[in-house]
Amino acid sequence: MSNIAKCPKCENHQTEINVAPITARDGTQKTLKAAVYTCRSCGTILAAGPDPYVLSEHIAGLVKGR
Ligand SMILES: [Zn+2]
Repeated sequence: MSNIAKCPKCENHQTEINVAPITARDGTQKTLKAAVYTCRSCGTILAAGPDPYVLSEHIAGLVKGR
């Protein structure tokens, strides 16, 4: 199956993307650990969400604490 994902800006096909940690704010003074996923060619942000490493460590801690 061919990869049809492409960057909406530079239109390069994406077989790999960059991910980097970033701080997110929820509108108060509270900050959250998040991640941005960017095009390896032009740096355009393709997606953003919770930091997957922090999230998995948090879930593992909850399971371990049972
Ligand atoms: Zn791009």
